[in-house]
Amino acid sequence: MPKIVINRERCKGCERCNDACPQKILAMSKEMNAKGYTFAKVKDESRCIGCRLCAITCPDVAIEVFIDGTQYEFFAY
Ligand code: SF4
Ligand code: SF4
Repeated sequence: MPKIVINRERCKGCERCNDACPQKILAMSKEMNAKGYTFAKVKDESRCIGCRLCAITCPDVAIEVFIDGTQYEFFAY
């Protein structure tokens, strides 16, 4: 099963990943990070299909997708 890791401190709450996810399993937390933004979270990881659209869409590279232990990186900041 794919594993989604969201770095809450990088997130700026833009919700683009929520819109991009074809499974609609991402949502925004009611909590805030240190910058005062609500951050993205995974609602139901068991339904993730590992498409990586969330990670590709995130402008702040806050999402990493691991599939079978392999980390998919799109940008090396
Ligand atoms: S990898 Fe695809 S299905 Fe999984 S959370 Fe990201 S956008 Fe949604
Ligand atoms: S696209 Fe990135 S910055 Fe925007 S809400 Fe999702 S994780 Fe946060």
